[in-house]
Amino acid sequence: MFSIEFFPPKTEAGFEKLQTTINSLNIMNPQYYSVTYGAGGSTQEGTHRTIQILQNSKLDAAPHLSCVGSSKQELIDLILKYKAQGIRRLVALRGDLPSGMGRFGECRYASDLVSLIREISGDWFHIEVAAYPEMHPQASSPQSDLQNFIYKIKSGANSAITQYFYNADSYFRFIDELHKNGIDIPITAGIMPINNYTQLARFSDACGAEIPRWMRLRLQHYYDDIESMRKFASEVVASLCQKLIDNEAAGIHFYTLNQPEPTLNVYKYLDIKPKNIYNNGGISAFV
Ligand code: FAD
Repeated sequence: MFSIEFFPPKTEAGFEKLQTTINSLNIMNPQYYSVTYGAGGSTQEGTHRTIQILQNSKLDAAPHLSCVGSSKQELIDLILKYKAQGIRRLVALRGDLPSGMGRFGECRYASDLVSLIREISGDWFHIEVAAYPEMHPQASSPQSDLQNFIYKIKSGANSAITQYFYNADSYFRFIDELHKNGIDIPITAGIMPINNYTQLARFSDACGAEIPRWMRLRLQHYYDDIESMRKFASEVVASLCQKLIDNEAAGIHFYTLNQPEPTLNVYKYLDIKPKNIYNNGGISAFV
């Protein structure tokens, strides 16, 4: 039903706070916690340490693995390391090269990484990939992006997590288009709770996620009234999640940015009917 995303903390204080964050988010009974990974291996140590913290707490941990900027051998070593560590789920991504870092590596697209994971580890991992209901910002058209996504699934991915969005229609249309193309895997909705408008606007510009105009205007209006801004944002994001739950979205993945409160503030508004939750290949669903 729910999954939670962290990034690897950059400081010791951040790692100390993470344990408290995990403890408070456990109330949501997440199916798994995923941990991001910097392109070219830039966060390799931190990602690994965060995964170990989760595993030590007996929680299901899913490392992200991005392929640009890494050699095939580096990726194989990491995949085999995670396998030896008992990890069963990977989030396989292309990643974004930091500007000035010109080396794509041997896996150019996430689909290449998915194929590599299957080639060296068979069906050991449940592979999640990224999906873009509002189109990936570098795609030449929504149609080509959809076809590239379908190719990524056919390369061996089991399910996907979307880029965050605030317009539920984009998600449901994306699901319809996949169904029309014969693709019926679980597509978990990626949800970004809102804690800081300036940061959200910056992220959204970079990743192509749309903040609807009416939301932007209201969020800007609360500029120096953080409390009211957060209350408004929690209600709006909760209403989006409720719509997704009521319409049987495959699951909700919270981008927490390592802050528990914004996610918990959304969660407390949700009317969740846990009747008859089923488990389909490791993916819970709202029914
Ligand atoms: P791809 O699926 O490879 O697609 C990238 C672009 O290439 C798209 O425009 C697609 O249409 C196009 N494309 C794909 N295949 C082909 C082809 N064969 N020919 C031509 N064009 C093609 N980034 C990180 O660095 N670390 C993370 O931990 C991380 N976690 C993420 C988690 C989620 C759930 C999401 C949604 C994103 C995450 N990202 C992360 C960001 C992601 O790496 C970027 O969005 C990146 O720009 C694209 O990654 P992808 O895996 O979607 O790439």
